[in-house]
Amino acid sequence: MKASLHTLHLRVPFRIAHGVSSTRQVLRLHEGDHIAEAPFVPYYAEDPAETLRLVSLPVLPQRLPRAASLAFNLLRHDIVCQAQSIPLRAIAAQKLGPEGTTPPACHSLGIPEDLHAFGDRVEQLAKQFRVLKLKLGSGDLGLDIATVSIARYAAPEADLLLDVNGGWDPVQAPAMIEKLAEYQPALIEQPIHHSHGVDAWEDLRARLPARCPPIFADESAQNAEDVAALAPYVDGVNVKLLKCGSFDGAIAMIAKARAEGLKVLLGCMIESSLGTTAAAHLAPWADWIDLDGHLHIANDDFSGLHFTSSGELEMPARSGIGAVPASPGPV
Ligand SMILES: [Mg+2]
Repeated sequence: MKASLHTLHLRVPFRIAHGVSSTRQVLRLHEGDHIAEAPFVPYYAEDPAETLRLVSLPVLPQRLPRAASLAFNLLRHDIVCQAQSIPLRAIAAQKLGPEGTTPPACHSLGIPEDLHAFGDRVEQLAKQFRVLKLKLGSGDLGLDIATVSIARYAAPEADLLLDVNGGWDPVQAPAMIEKLAEYQPALIEQPIHHSHGVDAWEDLRARLPARCPPIFADESAQNAEDVAALAPYVDGVNVKLLKCGSFDGAIAMIAKARAEGLKVLLGCMIESSLGTTAAAHLAPWADWIDLDGHLHIANDDFSGLHFTSSGELEMPARSGIGAVPASPGPV
């Protein structure tokens, strides 16, 4: 097995409540023709070089950084699935049952710098994508409201997913949710910071009117146990492969969410098509999908999932993860 780090360059710096990024690193593990990827994200503070050192040791440590756990897990699944000529999602079907309808694809927009240009961009994207995710939590509540208002005007028919990334304080959050309900968002994700714990979610729910947009947890829901703890207070959870460190952990999160009557938003990080294609195998069991991480990078060197001109997700007809190195474009 070989391990390597790969740097992804963002097309434009992506601003969310956690900060601004212009590059991201991913870990890649190779075994013969098999390859798997897992991203590093700033908020887990895992060191890529240290992770590479650990996975290159002759004997692996008992506990690995989550990026390493995920890459190993995906590599193993890819090897097993390709040997059986089945796609990665066949593993999910064993646990979650028959595939449902894959939701329409979503395109995310970072916190805007220029609201006029932002409105134009929303209008343009809405021609392809029926679902748009808006990043809020700018630190300026007026800007957050203007962001949603402009997007709603520019894309009157779109389903708007509002992702605050924990950027509102628990006192502000109920009023912001009530205010933004006017724009009929499809859901509001992680309005309060994950460091506040489950009590803050209970308190938030108690302060919200019975009729308000669905509230989803993302950073607060890292695994199936978190889903169970949050279930009384949220309407849905964002499931990402990296959070639980394995494809199997993501399946367990989805199973728990469904058992608790919660909706599932399937998400990803900034990663190449190799990473987003692996996650997209869970799309048939999700209510919403947010799998556009690869669209934000300028040097995506893999080819896998595809979004049609009408914003539908198409998966490659290959076994395993199904993403392959992209052929170089015309010179
Ligand atoms: Mg989120």
